[in-house]
Amino acid sequence: MDHFDYIKHFENCIEGVKAEGRYRYFANLERIAGKFPKAMYRPADGSSAREVTIWCSNDYLGMGQHPAVLKAAHEALDNSGAGAGGTRNISGTTRYHVELEESLADLHQKEAALVMSSGYVANEGALSTLGKLMPECAIFSDSMNHASMIHGIREAKQEKLIYRHNDLEHLEELLKSVDINRPKIIAFESVYSMDGDIAPIKEICDLAEKYNALTYLDEVHAVGLYGPRGGGVAEERGLMDRVDIIEGTFGKAYGCMGGFITGPAAVVDSVRTFASGFIFTTSLPPSVLAAARASVEHLKVSQIERQRIRRNVKMFKEALEAVDLPYLRGESHIVPLIVGEPTCCRDLTDILMNEYNIYVQPINYPTVPRGTERLRLTATAAHSAEDITRMVGTLHHLWTTHHALRAVA
Ligand SMILES: *Cc1c(COP(=O)(O)O)cnc(C)c1O
Repeated sequence: MDHFDYIKHFENCIEGVKAEGRYRYFANLERIAGKFPKAMYRPADGSSAREVTIWCSNDYLGMGQHPAVLKAAHEALDNSGAGAGGTRNISGTTRYHVELEESLADLHQKEAALVMSSGYVANEGALSTLGKLMPECAIFSDSMNHASMIHGIREAKQEKLIYRHNDLEHLEELLKSVDINRPKIIAFESVYSMDGDIAPIKEICDLAEKYNALTYLDEVHAVGLYGPRGGGVAEERGLMDRVDIIEGTFGKAYGCMGGFITGPAAVVDSVRTFASGFIFTTSLPPSVLAAARASVEHLKVSQIERQRIRRNVKMFKEALEAVDLPYLRGESHIVPLIVGEPTCCRDLTDILMNEYNIYVQPINYPTVPRGTERLRLTATAAHSAEDITRMVGTLHHLWTTHHALRAVA
């Protein structure tokens, strides 16, 4: 028998993805502080760099270039140097970690908070740990939950019950099927980032109370953006005290990097004590933490950025509506435009980039179900009215004239 051909094997793995039109090409961007949503794009073919407008960024409020955030990062870098120097346990806890965790507990009005390397790590670490620590635990998970939650729940190695997306009846049916005395976690998101819809948080908390379940809410796409202090949709709806654990990120509206959980002190301390993904990794560096804290603190008081994004999203949705483009009408700031086929989705984004200097990344399977391939568009606080008008005009033009789109019709 021939020996296993490793290289051939991996080439075949990639071929399959390419044949389906869902191979991922990364755009090489240089964000320019002060000019976002503009950035310099360097094409892979070596042709010269050019300025493009980003329409798929999660830096929703432009905080990644906010002067207060940059100043805090610079100061921390100059004060404390580049790295944290260790894991949290072994010389890697700094005043920047402690201050940021205090700021987060205050944001969500919880007893404690814990910062982790990213939102992904926070979800994976918290859900796997909480599940493992509770014998006979049953975990109820929304069918559209993010990969990081799915991974954490799988890692908990407990019974997992998946309820249909935002379907309260189905959730209740599943809750009822499990002995009331068993520990339970309901894990869900507020803003679902691929459809742009928002969970019925109050009703889920009502069910949690009725069936004595712990609630775990991912507010990754909502912190900074919703609520009078940026505490998320739960804050906006006056429900923060009814959610047991709130998870978030600094990577999206806060414009930085890192993730966190907040909740009862004993729960947070348990994650701190038992989560592998928290324990065995170098902690985030001072500059990143200082920047994140400056961003969180700024958005606790400033309303300007939230007002700007509301205004821009409203203008963008109304303009799309006016020309009949098929976007999913969610309540949130995210605007998914359904294309419905991966190759066409890819062609469309190529045309936008190559002919119009507009950067949008196609969203294909497995991120979304096959047949629902889409452009996930984000009008940020930093886009101008002119950016929005030009974007909608371009999309309308492509939708009605370009051959690439005939496949869809
Ligand atoms: C992006 C995302 C995460 C992960 O956050 P990162 O800080 O980027 O790792 C978690 N949950 C949801 C719903 C997300 O969209």
